[in-house]
Amino acid sequence: MTDTARLPGAAGHAWQWQLRAACREADDDLFYHPPGERGAAHDAREARAKRVCARCPVREPCLAFSLRTREAYGVWGGLTEDERHAVLGPARRTPRAHARH
Ligand code: SF4
Repeated sequence: MTDTARLPGAAGHAWQWQLRAACREADDDLFYHPPGERGAAHDAREARAKRVCARCPVREPCLAFSLRTREAYGVWGGLTEDERHAVLGPARRTPRAHARH
């Protein structure tokens, strides 16, 4: 029988903010650029994603999470990947698989 007493406790509290995310009702494609997207189409999609973030009640914890985990792709907490990159600095960007809330 597996002894689960040594395992860390549930960390659900760390993810509770995602339950209130405004983007839960939005299309993931709005937050991540498709291959080959450039120019006006890219800018328009990011602007639409940012408008969702602007009315999101959990924007602050979302942004903090994306900075802490160095989320490499997409719009998180109202910032694009390039904007987060600028906040973190070039040496701190680490590509990783993304998982949208
Ligand atoms: S702030 Fe984060 S949780 Fe809220 S809509 Fe934007 S990406 Fe989603």
